[in-house]
Amino acid sequence: MNALEARGVRVTLGGATILDGVDLTVAAGEWVAVIGPNGAGKSTMLRAVGGLLPAAGAISIFGTSTGRLSRRQRARLVATVAQSPVVPAGMAVLDYVLLGRTPYVPPLGRESTADLAAAREVLTRLDLHRFARRELATLSGGERQRVFLARALAQGAPLLLLDEPTTALDIGHQQEVLDLVDGLRRDRGLTVLATMHDLSIAGEYADRMVLLAGGRVAASGTPREVLTEELLATHYGARVRVIEGDH
Ligand code: ADP
Ligand code: MG
Ligand code: MG
Repeated sequence: MNALEARGVRVTLGGATILDGVDLTVAAGEWVAVIGPNGAGKSTMLRAVGGLLPAAGAISIFGTSTGRLSRRQRARLVATVAQSPVVPAGMAVLDYVLLGRTPYVPPLGRESTADLAAAREVLTRLDLHRFARRELATLSGGERQRVFLARALAQGAPLLLLDEPTTALDIGHQQEVLDLVDGLRRDRGLTVLATMHDLSIAGEYADRMVLLAGGRVAASGTPREVLTEELLATHYGARVRVIEGDH
């Protein structure tokens, strides 16, 4: 079964056409990277899939059209980590992760034992349990990114949307976060759709890539098929080193 099938997705913002008929299929268990130059519409595509902005076209998640899902049902199927999530002032890590369980109710001690257990289990899985009572704002960039992931995982959704999950992390922490996501994909059968900035890193982790340019799909396929000198020169206007060897 496909985790995601999007057909002819069209988004208009402030009178401008941002996505102009994007098709995107992600099989269950796959990691698909959305790449493309700044302003191509990558974040907008993720927001459309995540139900965070209105989009025309057809979007199905695990076989169900999103038009037939309530917000709550959709949240059980798809979880999003934004590019730079807001860090609420004064909020402890555990309370932040609990937002994944009770998104519409601030966790004011009203969370159920089951929600608390789920949040704690995710914190342990991501090696964050020792930070449970720490204020989120005091964590380092890499630790914080793991907490953002933890909130999404606590939601329990099988499709994870990550918008540039490693922006502002050094190479070691980038790999740490992406290895963690890859491990979760294997252990929990998660499906990953991620916008990725660094093309060589994207090529290492993704099964397939979709290159967006000007709100349309310019190319899609394996990293080897998409990361060609010609495509990158055309769409990034830069000389970029392409992947060597077998992928
Ligand atoms: P990417 O993530 O690929 O860098 P985005 O999806 O963030 O691109 O943005 C795509 C285009 O849509 C950009 O030109 C951006 O300025 C525009 N855009 C994004 N949000 C809005 C908005 N709310 N109103 C008008 N234009 C927007
Ligand atoms: Mg951008
Ligand atoms: Mg973006």
